[in-house]
Amino acid sequence: MRVLVAELKQETATFNPAQSRYDDFRVYYGNAMVDAYRDTHTELAGAMQVLEPEGVEIVPTLAAAAVSGGPVADADLDRLLTECVTAAQGCSDLDGAYICLHGAMAGESEGDPEGRLLCALREVLGDLPIIASLDLHAVITDQLVDMADILVPFHTYPHVDQFETGQRAARLLLRLLRKQIRPVKARVEMPMLVRGDELITATGKFGAAIRRCQEIEAEPGGLSAGVIIGNAFTDVPDLQSNVLIYRDGDRSGAEEQALEIARYMWRHRQEFQAPLTPLADAIALARETAGLTVFSDAADATASGAAGDSNAILKGLLQSDWTKRALVSVVDSPAVAAAVEAGVGAQLTIPLGGTRDPGRFTPVLVDVIVESQHDGDFLYEDGTRGRGGRVVVLRAGPITILVSERPVYVVGLKVFQAHGLEPTAFDLVVVKSPNGFRTHYQELASRIVPVDVPGSTSANLRSLPFQNCRRPMYPLEEHAEPPFDVL
Ligand SMILES: [Zn+2]
Repeated sequence: MRVLVAELKQETATFNPAQSRYDDFRVYYGNAMVDAYRDTHTELAGAMQVLEPEGVEIVPTLAAAAVSGGPVADADLDRLLTECVTAAQGCSDLDGAYICLHGAMAGESEGDPEGRLLCALREVLGDLPIIASLDLHAVITDQLVDMADILVPFHTYPHVDQFETGQRAARLLLRLLRKQIRPVKARVEMPMLVRGDELITATGKFGAAIRRCQEIEAEPGGLSAGVIIGNAFTDVPDLQSNVLIYRDGDRSGAEEQALEIARYMWRHRQEFQAPLTPLADAIALARETAGLTVFSDAADATASGAAGDSNAILKGLLQSDWTKRALVSVVDSPAVAAAVEAGVGAQLTIPLGGTRDPGRFTPVLVDVIVESQHDGDFLYEDGTRGRGGRVVVLRAGPITILVSERPVYVVGLKVFQAHGLEPTAFDLVVVKSPNGFRTHYQELASRIVPVDVPGSTSANLRSLPFQNCRRPMYPLEEHAEPPFDVL
């Protein structure tokens, strides 16, 4: 049997004014895609590991993934989708398809790129089984649900089950290919955007909902179950939370289970919000902490799609009497150019921040020494590649600043280590991640502080200019109520 495999992934923050372009995507074609993913902790690797020993031939088409960012420019999105569909049209004798998606991509004017892709692929593939995997931050649309036989979402947050999600998807695809199952689905929508610690699946209330989903998947007749909470910063008409359950030919069972989980989520909606600490208080806490303090700047989380050019915490440190060792990062292409021009060892006064999201941030002038210069090409913890463009390390007194030309994920340790910086050698590390960083820093940190600073991906959702999602929406409005209809 021959299975088409494709990937299209980006998480979009529509409040980030810096558009994403085709060149922000790393695109692999054909066999290069298999080579690039085989030894990674990704969905594609997990799917291949299940399919190949069963004698399934992988038919790689295209894998395109970008760092999270602003909406994808229309022409660039068209090009990506056209390349995906053209690659599929070039394949013959297929038996099915596995499509690896994030699910929270948005174009400049397209609210549902993944739905549009599955629609086009459905036209190419006809009735063949199509399975798609999703991040649990996906935005679920009718088109997406209608065009896939089964959607398979992550079960962990912070996300550590990418490989396992690919395995789950591939096992279901095998059963579909062998005509062993007839999937039926139940979907319950909840007008709710969620943030905060209770979403951590290992410890929080969201984890209980996910464990119920896992029980359902393990039951006879259970196929795929998940709670897909959307990316709160992808402000498109379908943004909200969803429960999605697939069972083998048992619609009423699926409906009952989807309703049960939706009611649980809704009951705890107030707990699924993020308590944040004002910056001055956070700095005071870090000052009195022995050992490593980690500030979570979720508002400028490049992992959630923010521009990465916030200098809010840097400014706060510079304006306070901060004397301990701090490690911060900022995306600032002109600053990198100036530092490279000046050369390693040079001293200069340089504006930092506010070059990509100037409506939210204004540059701050900093006296720095250029400590080192790098090509910004490195591997993250999961084996995927970071592309920071040129990177410089600057030092301003006790504060070390990693400056990249392009956005990178500031979630783990590798982003720093790859540039000669050991996070544990600092008293304070600022990560640009709402929760994913906990996988890497929980054990190392004496204290973790989610800081309330402005940004296009602030967990303070009421601070953001939502325009497109349905209203009322909790917590934007207190009085939102779900209909609890099963779709
Ligand atoms: Zn996610």
